[in-house]
Amino acid sequence: MKQNRIVASVFKAVWKCAPLAVSVTLLCYLGTAAAVSLSTEILARLFGAVYEAVSGRMRGVIILAAAYMGMQILQKLLNVISEVAWNVGVEEKCRYHFRMGLQEKAAALPLIDFEDAKKLDQLQRAKACVEDSVIPGCFYNIMILGECAGIVVGLMAVLCSYSLWFLPILLITIVPYPISRMRMGKEFYQLRWFQAAGIRKRDYLYSLFAGRNSQREQRIFRFGDYVKEKWEKERDQVADELNEFRVKDSRRLAWCQLLITLGYLLSILLSVLLVFRGEIAVGVFGAAVFAFQRVQSEVQAFFSLMATSFQEILEAGDYFTFLTLEEEPKRDGHFDRLKEGIEVEGVSFAYPNTDRPAVEIEQLRIHAGESTVIVGENGSGKTTLGKLLVGLYQPQKGVIRYDGQPLETISREELAETISAVSQSFVDYHLTVRESMGIHSPQFSEDDGKIGQALAEAGLGELADPGEYDKQLGREFGGRELSGGQWQKLAIAWAILKNRSILILDEPTSALDPSSEYEILSQFARMMEENTSVIISHRVGLCRLADQVIFMKEGRIAGAGSHQELMRDNVQYRSFYQEQAQWYGEKAEKGTTIRC
Ligand code: ADP
Repeated sequence: MKQNRIVASVFKAVWKCAPLAVSVTLLCYLGTAAAVSLSTEILARLFGAVYEAVSGRMRGVIILAAAYMGMQILQKLLNVISEVAWNVGVEEKCRYHFRMGLQEKAAALPLIDFEDAKKLDQLQRAKACVEDSVIPGCFYNIMILGECAGIVVGLMAVLCSYSLWFLPILLITIVPYPISRMRMGKEFYQLRWFQAAGIRKRDYLYSLFAGRNSQREQRIFRFGDYVKEKWEKERDQVADELNEFRVKDSRRLAWCQLLITLGYLLSILLSVLLVFRGEIAVGVFGAAVFAFQRVQSEVQAFFSLMATSFQEILEAGDYFTFLTLEEEPKRDGHFDRLKEGIEVEGVSFAYPNTDRPAVEIEQLRIHAGESTVIVGENGSGKTTLGKLLVGLYQPQKGVIRYDGQPLETISREELAETISAVSQSFVDYHLTVRESMGIHSPQFSEDDGKIGQALAEAGLGELADPGEYDKQLGREFGGRELSGGQWQKLAIAWAILKNRSILILDEPTSALDPSSEYEILSQFARMMEENTSVIISHRVGLCRLADQVIFMKEGRIAGAGSHQELMRDNVQYRSFYQEQAQWYGEKAEKGTTIRC
């Protein structure tokens, strides 16, 4: 994004958040710039009047002194007003507004973007921009830049009215300073960009050895020192690059300061010369030296702020660029209830930045009202296929149809009304039971009977009591902590409560002990009879009860049919099944249980 477009976006966005405070602050800065030039003119006259007063002529001293004091008070007053106007909620309002923007944008992105390291870096930079209040800061700095420029132009006009020689002295001795500041800003931004992935890794490693969840594992596996060492390495690398940059910049800055001091000395010499040649009065001498120094410091302030602003403008651009990322196309197709089935045709899907498709399927059909179990080894593409089936990811090739209607055209809201899904990476909401049920089925959040029934069917009898529904869950807010298996049962209870016509479960029993697993699988077996269901599992326990088994291997379908057909015709499936049966101490041929 071009810098002028970013600046325009910054102005538009901040103005939208707090128009009144922004106008007051702008007016104050304009007033201050005018007051400074006027003060210099008054000061020159005051010095002259004081000089005359020493020789016995008091004319005008008191009036000029009062006028000068008045100007100083006005400047301070404008300063206070602008600070108050700015601080009254501008930053907070902006942060709230931009957080909302970020959240809405993130929600509109295709889910696959969250698997893309480059997009995650973009999100991280946009988040940092919002949390560090870069956009209002950028706006504020641009206003101060305007004020500095106003002061410099005003004072230079005053100085040039004394002698035009002030201009070349100022320009020659100050120009290297802005050049070095602009280079610094650009190089610093490039460095931060280059470091973004390293910083993300450094912060991730830190969360591994300082985070609550990892503390537990750390104590068991004693990996603290190992992770700490890795974190220190990343941290030092980021810090070393930063230090190297700072040393280089300090060296440049020292040379610039030397030149600025030389310019100041030259301006004093010029003023002395002008007094001796009778071109300026003695009173003007003091004001000229004072004004020249002020111009120098304003120019320095302008350009060091410009360097920061340059960097901030680029950082603010990260937020606005993030907002331009391509969103998931709007889906508004109507869908009511699955009547015929789900069809997968010629589908190929690869994760971002990978060269091999995770899933490649020529043809697959899931009939309405039937149960399908997708099995296969870890990494065979089951979860990815599940995500494709519910429309979370969009295949690069091919199409998935619900009753002949392309899935990508069906509105997300209507899909949510149609599908109950439990993913293996379910979220353990630290809310009350009622609230967490309400997230998934708001219409049942006050229906104690239905909540209790769903909890009981999911094997969470210990929570199935109305007295428990409004108690906080999870340690985050001092509530009751659940075990991994209990959290998973709660996620299953959401799906049961939702009771949609399509049920898609991904490793629904991965965190459960064998007896709970048996209970839940029996429950699923009942739900499978009533709904169109797709259950993803690396265990073959449900295969016997399913109408169709899809056996996945290396992203492809290595066999499809009933369990009996696959056992008879598919050697790979047979050995996969028998291997698991042995692990669970059951003979596959007996076929009397779903425990394997
Ligand atoms: P399964 O559910 O059968 O264990 P997955 O669908 O999770 O298998 O993974 C299928 C393949 O896709 C694996 O090779 C895995 O490494 C790869 N994969 C999964 N998630 C990602 C991801 N976010 N980015 C890149 N590759 C991934």
